[in-house]
This record gives sequence, structure tokens and C-alpha cells, in this order.
Amino acid sequence: GDVLVTVRALTKTYRSARRRVAALAGVDLDLSTGETLALVGESGSGKTTLAHTILGLVAPTSGEVRVAGDDPADRRGRVRREQRMQAVFQDPHGSLDPRMRVAAAVAEPLVNLGTGREERRARVAEVLDAVRLGSGIADRYPHELSGGQAQRVAIARALAADPELIVLDEPTASLDVSIQTHVISLLRDLQRERGLTYLFVSHDLVAVRELATRIAVMYLGRLVEVADRDAFFAQPLHPYSVALLSALPRVDVPAGRAERIVLAGDPPSALDVPPGCPFHPRCPVAQDICRTAVPPLSTDAAGRSTACHFPGSLPLPKDTP
Ligand code: SF4
Repeated sequence: GDVLVTVRALTKTYRSARRRVAALAGVDLDLSTGETLALVGESGSGKTTLAHTILGLVAPTSGEVRVAGDDPADRRGRVRREQRMQAVFQDPHGSLDPRMRVAAAVAEPLVNLGTGREERRARVAEVLDAVRLGSGIADRYPHELSGGQAQRVAIARALAADPELIVLDEPTASLDVSIQTHVISLLRDLQRERGLTYLFVSHDLVAVRELATRIAVMYLGRLVEVADRDAFFAQPLHPYSVALLSALPRVDVPAGRAERIVLAGDPPSALDVPPGCPFHPRCPVAQDICRTAVPPLSTDAAGRSTACHFPGSLPLPKDTP
């Protein structure tokens, strides 16, 4: 598809107790119409900061973000941008106004756009139906909804203004596992029906495998691997990606019997980024050069992008699902 989002040389630095903390340390990324790009990484990897920068909620320190040619941080384009780009967050109850009935909450983006009352009513009914909630839900208040219902309402609201891009920020993290599966399959159906583009922020690789078409792995504010879904799950090239995948839960192997790659060292902190490859203190295959030279994100002949001096040198344990 056409390129919808471009991110160029993006950095975001916070000041903390006289230190400068880089949440994003130079990110380049494109998002094409119709794809689902998953941003994956531990907390502190920068994935949420990157998503919030694309949403215009965080202003970059340097570099550039464009969504359909627009700067998301530019206040002048706010209404048009709201039409084009919506978000669904982790905590559905927290993102719904407790005093607003469902119908009003879902219609809110349309009010901002100046859509007339009759059209709003029809649109609200259409999107509640699209997320498989009966019309009886329209008069309820958020506290009368289950977590799964509330998240469907949040998705309906995101759909109301017919956006091109929806940023899904850990949309299933607060839901029961059985509900998670339903929400993921709903999101997949909606994408197919409506030609949506998703940016899917998640630490849940099971959900990522279900929904994503492309994966971008982040570590300490940098992209360390970008790959199509099937290639990534079949053969991740960055040692950090391999470690993440080897930790996936197995259903067919007794607990404790599956091989795992256990990372040495402390979890990463943006307050203390190691020199050279930021992953080297935890990397099972690090060599001398890794301690001094930062590996750039580079793309091989097969189109796989990896920031590693020795991509592919850590094999996936053979019983990884
Ligand atoms: Fe490991 Fe070196 Fe690759 Fe970093 S550059 S991931 S330390 S092998």
C-alpha cells in the first residue's frame, strides 16, 4: 500500500535529575496503508513513546513524523487528524468518561467534526453493530459494562469518524485471556472490512502473531529488527528477538521442559545505556566489537532489517512454537 506514516531520525530526550534520558534514540520507520505493524519490546524500550509521538501526544526532541503528510504535533490540523487517526488504549474504563452514556461517548469524535445529529445517530448504531454490541448497550454507562464490552465501545468510538489509522496501545492487556482472543479477531475482521491500518503496541507476542503483518522490535529507544510476520516468527535474526520468541508459552511441552534463552544481566534502563550495542551485556553471542561499535539498522538482500553485527548467529531453540 501507499506510505501513510513516515518517521525519520526521531529522538525524544527527557531530563531527569540533571541527566538526559533518551526514550527514542533515532528511529526511522514507514507504515503502509492496510498493514498492521506491531511495535514490540519490554517496558522502557520506547514503543509507547514512539506511538504517542505518532499520535501527537508527545513532541519529538528532533527528527520528523508525518501522518498522511501532516505533522501530528501541529495543533492547527487537530480536527482533520482526529478524523484520520484514532487510538484505543489499554484501560477501556479509564478511557471512557464515567458520566457519559455509550451513545454519547461513541458519537464524541463526530461532534468535534460537526456531523449532524441524525447522521451521528446512524453512525453510532452502525459502529456498535460492527463491534458486535447490541443496540441495548447505547444507553448504558461505562460502570455497567464488562471490561470486554468497554473495550468494544472504545473500538466503536475509534471507528466512528471512519479513520485510516488506529493506534492500538496494548488494547488487550487488561482483559481476560478468553476475551483477548475475541477482541483480536474482532480487530482483524474490522481491518479487513474497512481497509484500516493499525499500529499495534504490544508486549504479547501471541497476540502479535495473530494480528500483525510486520513486526518492529525495539530495545532502549532503538529499532533492532524489522521483519514481515512469517519470516520473523520462523527465523528472527536479532539475538534479542530470539530471546523474546524463546520465552513464548508452549502448550505441547511440559512446563520447564522447553528450551529457553535466559538473558543475563539486568533489565535495560534508559538511564544507563551501555556503550556499543546496547544489548551487549545481555547478549549470549556478543563479541569484542559489540562493546564498542553501535550496530546500525541495516537491510539485507532479502529485505530483513537488523541492528546487529552478527545477525542470525543465535539460533531459535528447536522447540520454540
Ligand atoms: Fe549481540 Fe553483538 Fe548483535 Fe549486539 S551486535 S545483538 S551484542 S551479537
